[in-house]
Amino acid sequence: MIRIEHLKKEYPDSTPLKDVSVEIHDGEVIAVIGPSGTGKSTLLRCINLLETPTAGKIWVDDTEITAPGCDIHRIRQKLGMVFQSFNLFGHLTVIENIMAAPMDLLGRSKQEAYDTGMRLLRSVGLAEKALRYPDDLSGGQKQRVAIARTLAMDPDVILLDEPTSALDPTMVGEVQEVIRNLSETGKTMMIVTHDMSFARTICSRVLYIDQGGIYEDGTPEQIFDDPQKDMTRRFIRRLKVLELAVDSPEYDFLGAIGKIDEYCFRSDIPPRVKYRIRLAFEEIVQQMLSPLLDHTDIHVTVEYAADSERAVMTVSYGGGRFELADAGNELSYHVLKQSVSGLSYDYSPEAERSNTIRVIMQEKP
Ligand code: ADP
Ligand code: MG
Repeated sequence: MIRIEHLKKEYPDSTPLKDVSVEIHDGEVIAVIGPSGTGKSTLLRCINLLETPTAGKIWVDDTEITAPGCDIHRIRQKLGMVFQSFNLFGHLTVIENIMAAPMDLLGRSKQEAYDTGMRLLRSVGLAEKALRYPDDLSGGQKQRVAIARTLAMDPDVILLDEPTSALDPTMVGEVQEVIRNLSETGKTMMIVTHDMSFARTICSRVLYIDQGGIYEDGTPEQIFDDPQKDMTRRFIRRLKVLELAVDSPEYDFLGAIGKIDEYCFRSDIPPRVKYRIRLAFEEIVQQMLSPLLDHTDIHVTVEYAADSERAVMTVSYGGGRFELADAGNELSYHVLKQSVSGLSYDYSPEAERSNTIRVIMQEKP
């Protein structure tokens, strides 16, 4: 078991991990996901002490590995790491690469190290390459050897940091297959990956990393199918988001339309959806709301999900209950209703902006 309490990691220019607390139980296979630069590698590197945490504590079973005087080398043996770039020794053969650490660090005999090494090479499908040098292997084969080398130390936990992202796409499958087999052996694993469908098929738990820590933690079903928090949902569904604030009666309408166009271009939004987003913005904000709301503070968000080619516009504003249907502009209301796939209204007096209009726009209604 790994227990992390209030882990913080600070660099001179950034603090990727602000306050991370989590328990990882034996046998869990954890996918670590999140946008790049959010601290996924830093988290793994702190766990096996390749990085020294700025604050906080980490326990592996009953040992606090962050305690002064802890034997870092012994800890690293328990926590095997597989890197994006395989880091094999070029001057050693494949089997020698695998035998080296068990002989040097665990005191295994040459015969023992060889037998274990060959068994592991067979398990990753590379026994026939035992006497070759890393340079003779493809990227996928090198990574399989690197995994076998990690396993040769018989670690309790295996940490894999984007193990397939340096590979040619044709080699991803063979390495994923090895990782999949490994995930079925009951070993505790943490794997940083951007491949959501792979993560879903092997993991028992997902940690979504963002905002300096574990932003959402759940089963694959929870995180991939029904994320509870906004940023997780946007990440999982690869949502592209645009936010516009209409904060003065003389706001720059053409400027806003320009931002919508640019957003649609950047997000590769099909022309018909783009047309509807512009139309909804113009009818709701320009025609119906802004002439009537003197306190003009309208917030507009557009989210586009490329998988379903669906855009959702949310328009929110404060004040008492005020529905579009009551705006006294029947033409605009009619045009709007005819051109979108869904239109709903919600009033919640306790919210900062109590009125919310939700408009759904789809290529194929
Ligand atoms: P991820 O793996 O999620 O892409 P990283 O953990 O690699 O993110 O990095 C998180 C942040 O910490 C980034 O802003 C990165 O620039 C910074 N960082 C990572 N390693 C170092 C380092 N050794 N020195 C300084 N800054 C670092
Ligand atoms: Mg990383």
